[in-house]
Amino acid sequence: MSGRRRGWGDWADRRSRRIHCWYGRRFRATPRPARPEVRLFCDFEGHFAGDEGGRFAEAGTDLLLDMLARHRMRMTFDVVADLCRLYPERVRRVAGAGHEIACHGWRHERPRDLAPAALEQMLEETIACFGEIGLRPAGFRSPESAWSTRLVKRLAAYGYAWNAERDASPSPYRISGSLVRVPVRTDDWDLADRSADGARVIGKWRDEVQDAVDSGGVVSLGMHEWIVGRDGEFASRLDAFLGELRSDERIELKTLGGADATA
Ligand SMILES: [Zn+2]
Repeated sequence: MSGRRRGWGDWADRRSRRIHCWYGRRFRATPRPARPEVRLFCDFEGHFAGDEGGRFAEAGTDLLLDMLARHRMRMTFDVVADLCRLYPERVRRVAGAGHEIACHGWRHERPRDLAPAALEQMLEETIACFGEIGLRPAGFRSPESAWSTRLVKRLAAYGYAWNAERDASPSPYRISGSLVRVPVRTDDWDLADRSADGARVIGKWRDEVQDAVDSGGVVSLGMHEWIVGRDGEFASRLDAFLGELRSDERIELKTLGGADATA
C-alpha cells in the first residue's frame, strides 16, 4: 500500500532533506532561548509498535500520567492517530491531563515511503481521527523520523505548527514557511530491543541535558508509553530523572511545541 519511491526520487528527496536541514540551521534559526530548554515527549503507539506495544501500552500510560502529575509536569504525546478511533478513552485521558497532543502518523507509516496520493490520504485521516474526539494535534512527528520534503511542505496546510524529527541542530528552526523543525536528539529506543538498560539510557539523557546547559541550546528527549509499562526498572529511573529535571533551576521545561511544561 505504501508505494515506496526509489531511484531518482529517493536520491532527490535525500538531497533535498539535507539542504533543508543545512539551510534551516544556517540561516533560519528561531531565536535562541533565554535559558537552556529540555523538551520531553512520548511516542504514543499502542499495538502499532507490535505485540508488546499492545500488551504494555495501557499500564505504561497509567504510569506515565501518574508520574507527570506527581512532578507537576506536562509533556508532548505524539499519538498514532488511529488510536483515537480504537482507544478513544486512553487518548482522552492523556489530553484531559493537560498534555500537548501531537500526531505520530495515521497508522504508524513512514511518510518517506508514501507516494503523493497516499501521503495526502494519511494527512487527511490523521486530522479526521483526532477531530472525532474533539482534538487538534499541534505538531507532527514521523515514525522512525522517516520524514520527506513533501511531508514538510504539506504539514502547515493541515494545521500543524511544528515537525519534530531526529536532527542534529542545537535548537529549533523554520524549515518551510511558518513550520518549525524541532530537533530530536535521542530516545529510549535502545530499550526496545534490550540493547541497553534503563541506567544507560537515563545516563545518556543526563549527558544530553548537560550538553544543552553548556551550549545554551534546546534538547528533546523521547520515550514510549509501552516501554515505560514493560520495563519497571526504567520506569523508576525515569521517575527519579523527572524529579531531578523539575528541581533543576538551570533549565526550563517545555513541550515540543515550546509551551511551558510545568504545572
Ligand atoms: Zn513510533
